[in-house]
Amino acid sequence: MKVEDVKTAMVQGMELKLRDIDAIANNNDAPTFENTIEEMERAGEELNRGLNYYGILNSNMSSPEFREIQTELAPLFSEFQSKITQNEKLFQRIKAVYDASREKPLDADQQRVVELIYKEFEMNGAELEKEKKERYAAINKELSSLYTKFSNNVLHDEENYITYLEKEQLGGLSDGFIKSAARIAEDKGQEDKYAITNTRSSMDPFLTYSTERELRKQVWTNYYSRGDNGDEYDNNQIIVAILKLRRERVALLGYKNYAEWRLQDRMAKNPENAMDLMEAVWPAAIARVAEEVADMQAVADKNGDKITIEPWDYRYYAEKVRKVKYDLNSDEVKQYLQLDKLTDAMHYVAGRLFNYKFTPVPEGSVPVFHEDVKVWEVTDKDSGENIGLWYLDPYARQGKRSGAWATTYRGHSTFDGKKNVLASNNSNFVKPAPGEALLVSWDDATTFFHEFGHALHYFSSNVKYPTLNGGVRDYSEFQSQLLERWLSTDEVISQYLVHNKTGEPMPASLVEKIKKAATFNQGFKTTEYLASAIMDMKFHLADPTDMDVDKFERETLSDLNMPKELPMRHRTPHFGHVFSGEGYATAYYGYMWADVLTADASEAFVEAPGGFYDEEVAAKLVKYLFAPRNAIDPAEAYKLFRGRDAKIEALMRDRGFPVTSE
Ligand SMILES: [Zn+2]
Repeated sequence: MKVEDVKTAMVQGMELKLRDIDAIANNNDAPTFENTIEEMERAGEELNRGLNYYGILNSNMSSPEFREIQTELAPLFSEFQSKITQNEKLFQRIKAVYDASREKPLDADQQRVVELIYKEFEMNGAELEKEKKERYAAINKELSSLYTKFSNNVLHDEENYITYLEKEQLGGLSDGFIKSAARIAEDKGQEDKYAITNTRSSMDPFLTYSTERELRKQVWTNYYSRGDNGDEYDNNQIIVAILKLRRERVALLGYKNYAEWRLQDRMAKNPENAMDLMEAVWPAAIARVAEEVADMQAVADKNGDKITIEPWDYRYYAEKVRKVKYDLNSDEVKQYLQLDKLTDAMHYVAGRLFNYKFTPVPEGSVPVFHEDVKVWEVTDKDSGENIGLWYLDPYARQGKRSGAWATTYRGHSTFDGKKNVLASNNSNFVKPAPGEALLVSWDDATTFFHEFGHALHYFSSNVKYPTLNGGVRDYSEFQSQLLERWLSTDEVISQYLVHNKTGEPMPASLVEKIKKAATFNQGFKTTEYLASAIMDMKFHLADPTDMDVDKFERETLSDLNMPKELPMRHRTPHFGHVFSGEGYATAYYGYMWADVLTADASEAFVEAPGGFYDEEVAAKLVKYLFAPRNAIDPAEAYKLFRGRDAKIEALMRDRGFPVTSE
């Protein structure tokens, strides 16, 4: 697809889908599952195909001309969505099928599709009477501009609070960091200076390594004051406005508060369950902070630094503790992590757990958008049945978004004939010279496995209807997090984590060191995360009338006995997950929710006779936790796998926290 064809294709795709939708809505026959729900599952095939190319141009091959087209298309996409969700005739037919299914249930998977689709329309106001519907839409419009304002204010404070260093203030910083700080300063017209920008990627290493305590304090203060500077870019009033509008909107639907509305179709089901988990972990997290602070204070005292640990000292002294207690030579680790071998290792794991075989397709036999993209055919090891194609786009390039991610170009479904899966993994490794091994860090290897976990989740789907492939926010990271655990299994280490020169497998002592280092600084990490996650929930449970955001944050933290040596990971005035959109509003807890499942499911393997390759547990894993996607309620699915609910204790052990309740 050429960039210049994208807009036409998208506009036509939307028209075709709306034509499909209108045909369903205007059908004169009585509404049935087949003529309504199944037709909706079928609608918009051309658009879906086009969106794959759109996604590639967006994530893997972006360009200024494409971004221009994106800006033009954004309002059209939004209008298009509203035309479907506000189609009254369509909703009446969905509702009729839904109501009938309450009397006379359909097949289990059909029933689930109807419920999911009905719920989505209902949660977004389809049942409201005309006047309320108008108010609902008006609120959403107002919210969307507040979200933009919120993120623009944060962006303003990130761009405008830069700390410039002089040559004699570079103590402790690495050459690479200094070089890039010099380049940024030069770009900003400050020759011979060094710029510390007000972003996490600049702040974090600076606070970890800089020996200049006063400057650490300044950089820290700038960062944690974003959106909270009492000027025209201050977000506190905007937050109150957002909270009020969200509460008013869900009140139209009859809900007490936003959290209750949001969590009803999540695995946690309600805010109490999410809060229970967070409050159960919190005491151990802050107790660990006290231990970490004591360790750090001891290092400071030993150095003769006459200080008491303050928030801008935490990262700096934690790094010193890490060196003493958990020293890992990351360069030594890297020698055992070659990207090609890691790819083979993932295929091996997929073979053992999922019975898949990965075979490279002959070059040129499958079209790709860039020569660096490699493709494998995925088949069942016994039957030879084709499961799908796996695309790997490993290298960084201009126009590719940062980080690593997984996506599908086609999901599995069988209702209209079996569709095989086209799944893709994407990363940003620096391409090595021809013939040279690409060595990666332990973290990058873990992420590589993580994203492959998403791909396996796509491949293993056995659902009949596309809607059932959908994700549940506090559940869909669990499968990928779990797959990370196979990186450090003996089978993978002995066969694939081999030294790139000698071919020797990674020594057991090094593996031990890596595992031990995983619990390092967990007090800090868990506490800063939980403080934000709890705050997210409390803000949406509270009544926002006359709320003073600053005071609310301060008092809530004080009630929690928040340690004074560290702040929330995201302070409220710049908590973009929650206030620059709705993606993670009352959902920030979800990372920990999924992590409980990960820790608990991983213990199921540890306890099994065959360990991480136990055939019986693996079969259950695929059957209940991967293949059904969203065809089974996630809580039910987990119980089928484990014979019980997940327990928090596994997470506590994982993070090196004491377990008291067992
Ligand atoms: Zn993920």
